Amino acid sequence: MPSAIVIGGGVAGLTAGAELADRGLLVTLFERESVLGYHASGRSAAMFEKGYGPAAVQHLTEASETAHIAAGVLSPRELMLVGSADQAAAFHADVAALNLAEIPPADAISRVPILSAAKVTHAALSPTARDLDTDRVLQRAARRIRNAGGTIVTRADVRAIQHDGDGWTVSTDDEVTANLLINAAGAWADQIASLAGVAPIGLQPKRRSMARLPAPGGHDVTGWPMLMGVDEGWYAKPDAGGWIVSPSEADPVDPCDAWPDDMVLATGIARYEAIVTEPVTRVETSWAGLRTFPPDGVPALGPDPDHPGFIWCAGQGGYGFQTAPAAARLTAQLALGQTPDLDAETVVALNPRRFR
Ligand SMILES: Cc1cc2nc3c(=O)[nH]c(=O)nc-3n(C[C@H](O)[C@H](O)[C@H](O)COP(=O)(O)OP(=O)(O)OC[C@H]3O[C@@H](n4cnc5c(N)ncnc54)[C@H](O)[C@@H]3O)c2cc1C
Repeated sequence: MPSAIVIGGGVAGLTAGAELADRGLLVTLFERESVLGYHASGRSAAMFEKGYGPAAVQHLTEASETAHIAAGVLSPRELMLVGSADQAAAFHADVAALNLAEIPPADAISRVPILSAAKVTHAALSPTARDLDTDRVLQRAARRIRNAGGTIVTRADVRAIQHDGDGWTVSTDDEVTANLLINAAGAWADQIASLAGVAPIGLQPKRRSMARLPAPGGHDVTGWPMLMGVDEGWYAKPDAGGWIVSPSEADPVDPCDAWPDDMVLATGIARYEAIVTEPVTRVETSWAGLRTFPPDGVPALGPDPDHPGFIWCAGQGGYGFQTAPAAARLTAQLALGQTPDLDAETVVALNPRRFR
């Protein structure tokens, strides 16, 4: 039976592993942490927005929508861009880039009553945004791997990788050999390449922080849209009865268990406070995660040009959940030499060969 080792128990590794398992491969997935989705995949804003990201990402998101709907993981959540008079130029650039529909500021305030009538002079809505049930995505993918006879091993730190005629041998506390190696190690994917003797592609993890606040002004925020400041200066979103605010930073850091920077969080919250009527009096909790980008900001999906059995599934940046079904399908198709069902231009844009 053909086999694959997947390194990484985030959304990338789990969904790619599930696609390979569906195609008859015996999958062994290694995750260093004790739980799946501990790093970036457990810290996302859980949004699906078709207009977000570069063209290849938008195509992956579009191609993922049907599978997300079939899995029952999307639910209504508007995305609203808001700006003040001095931000007019940046506001209009965002409206065009994200394909938003402008609405009168009074409409925006009637939907989100904490928006300041004195400050909000511009507002726009996305017709395509949705909430994404990220936990369900991870659990469903894990089930698909296990149901097909695959194995998911947590607390399994991959420390050595060797290649010989039979395939890849990966060492954790045990040794496993497989025909294919899927590198879905998130912020650590370049380190995994180096362990395997494969040239890295120059991935850069970037920290993004979040603060969880009580619902502002005691409002029921459940049906509020996600709010976004112009030029991605901050965003805010309902979260299980509370309200999360992110400074939207993209600070380059080394791969790590990310932690928010207090000063970055405070200045980001100040940008948010400038446009609402309710001051932030208490932060319940805060966290940070890493969004990992290749040099051109577009994910790397498919076989390494110099080592065809080494399959990249990395660099998903801030789009790893919304693109997961199509990204995983493409990764599996390319790994097995099958014809991709995505358009050729997008497949080329995602090909790791572009980094050599
Ligand atoms: C604050 C924030 C907001 C976001 N919002 C959204 C959003 O709204 N919508 C969206 O689509 N995306 C969003 N994202 C992006 C999304 O979360 C990521 O693109 C996605 O989670 C990346 O998944 P991954 O599996 O590649 O990485 P990870 O989830 O980090 O998984 C990689 C795994 O590999 C494991 N690993 C690494 N090295 C080894 C080793 N040697 N041995 C074993 N295991 C190893 C790690 O422990 C880790 O668990 C957001 C991200 C952040 C941080």
